This record gives sequence, C-alpha cells and structure tokens, in this order.
Amino acid sequence: MPRADRLATLWLFHPLRRCVASLLSARVAILMYHSVSEATSNGLHPYFETTTSPRVFAEHMKFLCEAGYRTLQLDEAVNYVKSPEQPSEPSVVLTFDDGFQDFSTHAFPILHRYGFTATVFLPTAYIGDRRRQLNTRGCLTWAEVRALHRVGVTFGSHTVTHPLLNFLNAGELEQEVRRSKETIEDQIGDPVDSFSYPFAFPETHRGFKTQLRDLLGAQGYRNGVSTIIGTCGPREDQFFLPRLPVNAWDDRRLFRAKLEGGYDWLHSFQYARKLATVGGP
Ligand SMILES: [Zn+2]
Repeated sequence: MPRADRLATLWLFHPLRRCVASLLSARVAILMYHSVSEATSNGLHPYFETTTSPRVFAEHMKFLCEAGYRTLQLDEAVNYVKSPEQPSEPSVVLTFDDGFQDFSTHAFPILHRYGFTATVFLPTAYIGDRRRQLNTRGCLTWAEVRALHRVGVTFGSHTVTHPLLNFLNAGELEQEVRRSKETIEDQIGDPVDSFSYPFAFPETHRGFKTQLRDLLGAQGYRNGVSTIIGTCGPREDQFFLPRLPVNAWDDRRLFRAKLEGGYDWLHSFQYARKLATVGGP
C-alpha cells in the first residue's frame, strides 16, 4: 500500500535528520502503543492503526535491545533532554494507552525478557475487579494492575471515562483528572505522576491548555503525554509531551526512522489540520 508519510520519512526526512543529528540537542522518543494483539482495524489507513501484532512488537523490542537503547521513565526523559551533557547511549520511553489486557499477556513478557520499563495509562472506569471492555477489547483487571505494578510496571491516568476532555465543563474536567489518579493510587498504593491525554490533543486551544496544565499541576501530576507527533526535546511542555505513534505497520526501517526523529516532520501537518478545523489558535 503506498504511503506518503512512509516514503517521505524514509527517503527524505530521516536522511536529512541524520545529517544534522549532531547539531541538535538531545531528544528522546516516547513511543505510543495501544493494543498488542493480532486483531487489526480493517480498512483504516496505516497512519490511523493503533494495534501492534505480538510479532511486530517483539521485533521492535529486539531492535531496541540490539541498538543499545535503554528505557526511561517519563520524569527521567524530561531530565534527560534538559541535561547539558550529551548522553552516551540512546534512550526511549515506552507507553501504552487504554489499559488493555493484552499488555499483560503479550507485551509484558517481551518487555520482561529485555528488562525494559513501561508506563501503562488506565481509563479507570474500564478497569474493574471483573474484566470490562473498551472498544470491544478486554481491559486489565485491578488484580492484574496490582500484579504488574509489583514487578515494576508504572501506571498513569488516562482519565476516568476516556472522554473528549475539551468538551467538558470545569467540574467534569476536574473529576476526570482527580478521580482517576486517586483510584489508581488506592489500588497500587503508590503515587501516580503521569497523565495521558485521550484522543487528538487540542494544541491550538491556548486557553484550554492553560486550564488543564494548571489542573494537572494542582492535582499533583508531575508530567503527561499527548498525541502530538514528534520526539521529545528540551523545550516541551512537561504535561503535554509529544509521542510517536507506532503500530503493526512499523517495520524495522520505519521504526528506526521514528526513533531518530525522521517522523517529526508530520507534526506540521497535524498542527495545520487542527488550525483548519478550529479556525485558529
Ligand atoms: Zn485512549
């Protein structure tokens, strides 16, 4: 299937990026996975696919290991890109949105094999003592969350009900941000530091961003991730860090290009589309 984003990344932007890599400040790729399973969303353009097959996921992790990557937590990544010293080894952050059960059955065994860390973002209304579903896919139970936490998996908030946050009133927004954090903390017995914004991030809405940033800070969050495309540099907003979407279509070449900043150019198009949709910042 011809893909303009793939061709431009592999033949233009990744080679250009590699030429100037030594001139740029340190950046780290925060990868955004969702489900690690065989099922694919039929008919979607590969850009919009969110599922990664276990085979492709295993290849991604093998590549990271062979290329010498170490995995960071989000707070470590924020410090990493701000450090004046150039790091000696490449680093990456692994994140998983939506809290699907297949993280436990398909992703974690592979992560464990390589000693990699990861953060899983939970929409808490879909996590129960009995299995619940989000978009027809089974989610983790609280017993599974606690077991994964005990073996080193980090958990963050992905709201309570997975809504379009910018359509909520102030009270509803506060509930989504506060209650999800409290619920996870009650279950795992540890602080929750990170927040993941569901759906497309309204990065052109300055007023909403300020409101949400203040709320996240007031509720005790220390950082957060968004669906803004790109690697993470020293000047990012620590509550809305950019990520790189990855899925079953990312073969070794495209995966490597994404890690090395070769996919960052797509953010210009993503931003322009949002401007066109809302009529300006
Ligand atoms: Zn989500």
